[in-house]
This record gives sequence, structure tokens and C-alpha cells, in this order.
Amino acid sequence: MAYWMKMPENGESLRATRLIRVKPGRPIVGIVTSMELIGCYVHYFRGRSKACERADCEACREKHMPRWYGWVSIWGPKSNEHVIAEFTASCVEAIQEYRLKHGQLRGAVLTLERATAKINSRLTARVQQSTINADVLPAELDVIGTLEKIWETHHSDDAPKIARPDDLQGQQRFA
Ligand SMILES: [Zn+2]
Repeated sequence: MAYWMKMPENGESLRATRLIRVKPGRPIVGIVTSMELIGCYVHYFRGRSKACERADCEACREKHMPRWYGWVSIWGPKSNEHVIAEFTASCVEAIQEYRLKHGQLRGAVLTLERATAKINSRLTARVQQSTINADVLPAELDVIGTLEKIWETHHSDDAPKIARPDDLQGQQRFA
């Protein structure tokens, strides 16, 4: 007998969620579906990305400096694609300023853009009001669940999923 279910098991749907980063000259634009941004410090340590665990963090003990990253889920009205966009600390002020002014991020148009043609050049965020009714937006994606899935499924011989330029390939169809 078939065993029917509403969701695949073992976080398979989370693994299918795409995480996108901004390439130089290729801004990412989408409607934010998250209520809030969420971020954490990340180590690129021993060939893979892992969240900094603060107390008892192996990478910190080895004097490895973590970097802060933030994420929101964004949706493209034309592509109907729903993805998680990654940004850096340089974007937080603009995003939080919008949230304070408008009470929420959900429904805003987020533009993430690199300052120059360099792959790791400073990232800036622009947040504007959209004309789309927040009620018609898809429910926000599980950002934390997706990231934890990405980090946990890393093995040292796998290609790292974060902070590696090769990883950007094929991730820009969204914009
Ligand atoms: Zn750490």
C-alpha cells in the first residue's frame, strides 16, 4: 500500500529551497515574504560553513573569526519563485529602518546590490514599499530550517554551500 503524506520526510522540502547571493552587476530584486530578517555569525571553517555556536564553538576556540550574515525569504512576482536571499551586515541598517517605519518587512521590495564588479565588494540594500497586497504573498519560507539543513548536510569533501564564488552559478535566475 502506498503511504501518502503531505510533506516529504527528513527535511527534503527544505533542501529544495534555494539560497541566493548577489553577484556583481546582477542585483537581486524581490518582494520580502519574511516578517523579520534573521541572521547569525558564520564560520567558513575547515572547508565548510557552520554557524558560530558562541559558547563552546570549535572554530572560535581556534581563533577563527566569524562573519555575520542575514537572510529573508523573497518572492518574484514574475518568476513566481520563492527563495532565500543572503546579505551582509552592511545591509541591516536599511532593512531595519524600513521595518521600524512600516512595522513589518513583509510586502516590501528588497533590492540587494554589489557596489563594484568585485565578487566580494560591499553589498547594499534598498527597501521600498510595493503595491502588492501582503495578503496575497506566499507564506514565508523556513529560513532557519533551510540553513540548518544546508549546514548539517555538509561533509568536508562536499562543496561548501556558503561563501564560495562557484556556488553563485545558476543562482541568479531569480532576479
Ligand atoms: Zn564561533
